[in-house]
Amino acid sequence: MRDLSTLPKAHLHVHLESTVRWTTLREIGDANGVPVPARPASLDGFAGFFEQNSLVRSCLRTYADFHRVAREFCADEAAQGTRYAEVSFTAAAHGERVGDPDLPLAAVLDGLATGFTESGVQTRVILDHSRRRPVERAWATLDLARRHDAVVAIGLAGDEAHPGDPFVPVFAAAREACVHVVHHAGEAAGAESVRQAITSGRAERLGHGIRVLDDPALVAEVRERGLALEVCPSSNVALGFAPSLAEHPLPRLLDAGLTVTVNTDIPAIIDTTLTQEYDHLRTLHGLTDAELATLARNAVNASFAPPATRDRVHTEINTWLT
Ligand SMILES: [Zn+2]
Repeated sequence: MRDLSTLPKAHLHVHLESTVRWTTLREIGDANGVPVPARPASLDGFAGFFEQNSLVRSCLRTYADFHRVAREFCADEAAQGTRYAEVSFTAAAHGERVGDPDLPLAAVLDGLATGFTESGVQTRVILDHSRRRPVERAWATLDLARRHDAVVAIGLAGDEAHPGDPFVPVFAAAREACVHVVHHAGEAAGAESVRQAITSGRAERLGHGIRVLDDPALVAEVRERGLALEVCPSSNVALGFAPSLAEHPLPRLLDAGLTVTVNTDIPAIIDTTLTQEYDHLRTLHGLTDAELATLARNAVNASFAPPATRDRVHTEINTWLT
């Protein structure tokens, strides 16, 4: 049985704000006068997540804060066998909050560059925009993306009760500007949210997407268009979108012939790692090493990584398997 921490991985769905080590959060909170409890509160569904997320946001204020969490993200991912990550960051919202639209993203990109030098984990950034927030901020998000080569994509996140339609012109403009588009859809909301994301929303990949299973015709469409799903089992369970890891729909997504990738979404908040997510698939669902390697390859193929990176990680996955 191979060590899954050494399986070379691409990590496509992970929010930087939800990767912050608790010890780091306490130190940063302390320096900025924000009280942080000794231990994270146990997560109570989506409301609990919003509370945790808002605590993290209120702690992150300076260039050094953003730089540190980005750098530590690389170190933590290296320990998971991650070779390449596309990390989501809500840059425009942080910029508004700290009163400088460019500082948070600039600090994160610098921190990721330092992290790459130290740990070898290559990264690109996805700028997410909450569906609850104004369209103007989504345009500001696209503006940031266009000005930074390390930003490969933008997309909608947040409460799926809010429709994606108001943002359609932003994502059309993104595709015109060769900025990729990836939306959260089919997590809380049903098949309709997936349909909107992949048609007028212009999504090239789906964040979560598990509720595509609600509609067999949509399953066929997503499969035929080759759209990959960024599946995050432990997050789905913690936030109440799947009853348990054992009953998670991931095996059914595979049976339906969909392109599945494995991700953590909010690892620090729910105390998981990318290796643990692969391990659950081995222990709870009986996936073989060859099948787990296929999932790792899916993530490389669905990524926006440069061709040389993709080739290198594919070779490393083959070596792991043989
Ligand atoms: Zn997410």
